[in-house]
Amino acid sequence: MEISSVGIVGAGQMGNGIAHVFALAGYDVLMTDISQESLDKAVALIDRNIERQVARGKVTAEVKAAAMARIKTTLKLADLGQCDLIIEAATERETVKQAIFEDLLPHLKPSTILTSNTSSISITRLASRTDRPEKFMGFHFMNPVPVMQLVELIRGIATNAETYDTLHAVVERLGKTSATAEDFPAFIVNRILMPMINEAVYTLYEGVGSVKSIDESMKLGANHPMGPLELADFIGLDTCLAIMNVLHEGLADTKYRPCPLLTKYVEAGWLGRKTQRGFYDYRGEVPVPTR
Ligand code: NAD
Repeated sequence: MEISSVGIVGAGQMGNGIAHVFALAGYDVLMTDISQESLDKAVALIDRNIERQVARGKVTAEVKAAAMARIKTTLKLADLGQCDLIIEAATERETVKQAIFEDLLPHLKPSTILTSNTSSISITRLASRTDRPEKFMGFHFMNPVPVMQLVELIRGIATNAETYDTLHAVVERLGKTSATAEDFPAFIVNRILMPMINEAVYTLYEGVGSVKSIDESMKLGANHPMGPLELADFIGLDTCLAIMNVLHEGLADTKYRPCPLLTKYVEAGWLGRKTQRGFYDYRGEVPVPTR
């Protein structure tokens, strides 16, 4: 199936990155969110980020202007009904995602493919509550979307071959690489990454190391480009906790229990970079560890 227009639900850190790469690849993008402020912020951020690519000589000013002209926003979810492809990138909460698909369904044209950028929630379950489980897939981009090469493609139990092939071709047109994962909690990347981040929080909680020593150990000792706590702040601690809860409940194994310290940070509203405070405090010139 030929895709030319893409509707993106949620204009947070993932939604704006997804809009950025689709617009640059020549797709028409219509983005929605529950707040006009988030939409305005997302468009301004995309403009700044593509401008940086222009400054580095990766993109011409003409290409940037054409990409920005392809991005439209709306506060009405129903406006996305005529898009060929929907990418849901709203908050990582199943009730939120379920309500979005429910509200969208009456407005969709029959051929529209539905996808979710969820990091962990069952694609089969989300799909089963729609009128088109065969045209539903997990479409998992990595953060930051313009930089990261991988897209995980997750088939639900009912996803058909045409839908899979269509999304596979979309990933190629974006110039990215896909990896196919089966639909089990947190798929591949987060099944492996999140327990490591959670273990880093336990290491902090039990006093084995400080924020600084844990991050330095993994950067210099395991050659990771970012420390696990720095990475958790980057992902968003609410998203990390949500993924750990999905692993814990979905696989019913105590080895996935979320660290109480992670829960405490989320309860404090210290969600990482997006709220200026998490394992580091970002309000000053340089990030300062909070423990
Ligand atoms: P975020 O908190 O930055 O953004 C979420 C956005 O969704 C917000 O702008 C919010 O206003 C909007 N939203 C909430 N309810 C909505 C609704 N009913 N309709 C429309 N918009 C709504 O979160 P994020 O980091 O962009 O994560 C979004 C999704 O992407 C989650 O499912 C997350 O698991 C997934 N994801 C995140 C990362 C990451 O590193 N942060 C990586 C891959 C995938």
